Amino acid sequence: MPELPEVEVVRRGLTEHLCGRTVESVTVTHPRSVRRHEAGAADMAARITGLSVAAAMRRGKYLWLTFDEPGVGSADTALVVHLGMSGQMLVQPAGVPVEKHAHIRATLDDGRELRFVDQRTFGGWVLAPLVEVDGDLLPDLLAHIARDPLDPRFDADRVVGVLRTKNTEIKRVLLDQAVISGIGNIYADEALWRAKVHGGRIASALTRPVLRTLLAEAQAVMTDALAAGGTSFDALYVNVNGESGYFERALAVYGRGDRPCTRCGAVIVREKFMNRSSYSCPRCQPPSRGRRASS
Ligand SMILES: [Zn+2]
Repeated sequence: MPELPEVEVVRRGLTEHLCGRTVESVTVTHPRSVRRHEAGAADMAARITGLSVAAAMRRGKYLWLTFDEPGVGSADTALVVHLGMSGQMLVQPAGVPVEKHAHIRATLDDGRELRFVDQRTFGGWVLAPLVEVDGDLLPDLLAHIARDPLDPRFDADRVVGVLRTKNTEIKRVLLDQAVISGIGNIYADEALWRAKVHGGRIASALTRPVLRTLLAEAQAVMTDALAAGGTSFDALYVNVNGESGYFERALAVYGRGDRPCTRCGAVIVREKFMNRSSYSCPRCQPPSRGRRASS
């Protein structure tokens, strides 16, 4: 799964290339890519055609487009894009050969095509009504997703208060998109390392200042990743690949098992957590105090 900085790069690219463009037609060539849209491919095509793209939006790792209906105003439907493991949003000039795994194509009024390319077909498009949640308009299927640390209205004090009530491992809570969104396995490890907190420690046992530092570090690591990777995408290609490595240079601990901690020199440890790998420094992030037996 792409993490927040990668999705934000895609969002910025889509903003640059799509806003103001009108969708003239939509072609779906793989039913799996619209399986979340229960009314089917023809319904999706009929409802998007004729709308112009108003904005590309993001919350956490979730991405959607909003539309204007010519002569009417804001459309009340959003197009939610699930990037899955391998989804890409490409904006291609007319005449560029169609990619092998291009499963949805939307023709734009300037002749270009927006193509959803997804080799592994875990991703897809779905239409969802917009609803107001805590002062923001969100697709209804994302109404439960909490604000992410890069959201201007992210309320760190409130989130610290929620974390203090959680009697479970802090890493597990950081990954809970209903508490704080946009933090995946990679940036959870990076934020925990920066804040010198072991992910296995119990959230409610951590002090407010430590939790505040942790949230600030989550914000900082994603801002840094965005700065490192946010300028490297080709102007024509608006894409993301969950397995691409262009943010890797910014990582201090994730994926660095058996290598020295860049801060203290101790050997980075890899552990299993929630069926995935967690990386931490045994010296900077002592796993003791408040740690629950592994579950
Ligand atoms: Zn260390």
